[in-house]
Amino acid sequence: MQGPNQTAARRRKTRQIRVGDVLVGGDAPITVQSMTITKTADVDGTLQQIYALAGAGADIVRCTCNEQEAAEGLARIVPRSPVPIIADIHHQYRMALAALEAGVHGLRLNPGNIRKPEHIKAVAQECKDRGVPIRIGVNAGSLDPRLYDKHGGATPEAMVESAETELAYFAEVGFDDVKISVKASNVPLMIEAYRMLADATDHPLHLGVTEAGPPPAGLIKATAGMATLLAEGIGDTIRYSLTADPVEEARAGRTLLEAMGLRERKTIDLIACPSCGRAEIDVIKVANDAMAAFGDREIPLQVAVMGCVVNGPGEARDADLGIAAGRKKGHLFIKGQNVAVVPEDEMVESLVRYAEAILEQGADAVLAAADLERARREAEKDRAALLEDKGVDANDSEARVDLIRKTVGE
Ligand code: SF4
Repeated sequence: MQGPNQTAARRRKTRQIRVGDVLVGGDAPITVQSMTITKTADVDGTLQQIYALAGAGADIVRCTCNEQEAAEGLARIVPRSPVPIIADIHHQYRMALAALEAGVHGLRLNPGNIRKPEHIKAVAQECKDRGVPIRIGVNAGSLDPRLYDKHGGATPEAMVESAETELAYFAEVGFDDVKISVKASNVPLMIEAYRMLADATDHPLHLGVTEAGPPPAGLIKATAGMATLLAEGIGDTIRYSLTADPVEEARAGRTLLEAMGLRERKTIDLIACPSCGRAEIDVIKVANDAMAAFGDREIPLQVAVMGCVVNGPGEARDADLGIAAGRKKGHLFIKGQNVAVVPEDEMVESLVRYAEAILEQGADAVLAAADLERARREAEKDRAALLEDKGVDANDSEARVDLIRKTVGE
């Protein structure tokens, strides 16, 4: 069986850089990034979004710095931000210098649209003097036209060459405090570009599928690209680029890393049965209600929502806590052991209460305080009644098989 850290053990060796107080690369935990969608000049609105992103799991947040007012906004945002701030720079190298004056913890430069060597080197020199790292953010959609023509399109080779050209300019001023991304909205192209880049350099890599679009398709595309690379040990920091509230991006980033065993669990891992003919409740609704009730609360437990008490507690016996529906009742269980029976309309509330109790007292203490014998008897009673009511074959599968046999046999 795969252990939780098996993926991390194969992680590619990279040099380490520091973005504010967050380490990226080397043996540092893989970090989650997101980007604000407010006007950076709107200091309070942007700070509010940064706090929401940090609460949802973002370790680093990027803000656009596209005009003087944005740079001035950054000067007021940076000291009040709970996480390091990176300024996103396109076209105007002066905005990079202004962002540095504002005190940002990192820059993102797009080599496709800041192309004058003297401008690139001026920014790198300033970053070197201030100890501020740069992300070379290559994007297939805004590749330097000369590279596009040379390679006959935005190929992985063209994208990697763009990053290497930028690195060479930086090297001229002795600057290499760098992480790199080679994003594309085309997933196979993005995967290939990152693989090639990983072979070519030991700089930490920032992963992303750019312009992935709205969820759920955007989430699937971004996950397909990033999870593939992470499983190969490639990637030191990640960003979902979704057409959605950026809080969704931060949450998705955190969930991906936790699901792959690359970050310690911070919030609830909700598992739920897919439901079937046996279900005694609307599993989808209860699971969604439970997700909403737990929200981003820091309760690092696996919680199961199961549609019936016949198979639920057994199927989810590895979960820290779960609930299975009986007849108008919810059967709470901890590590597969029934601990309490609650009315159906209190299932979600009880789940949250028990999760809090496990967090505060530990599962053993909660189990010791429960009337396990009574809970087991009640669950047994409901289980027997449901089996009698719906039979062993709740989905009528065997009856259908009989019908098929009769039809084919005739
Ligand atoms: S048997 Fe019960 S727990 Fe399993 S899928 Fe059906 S309703 Fe859910």
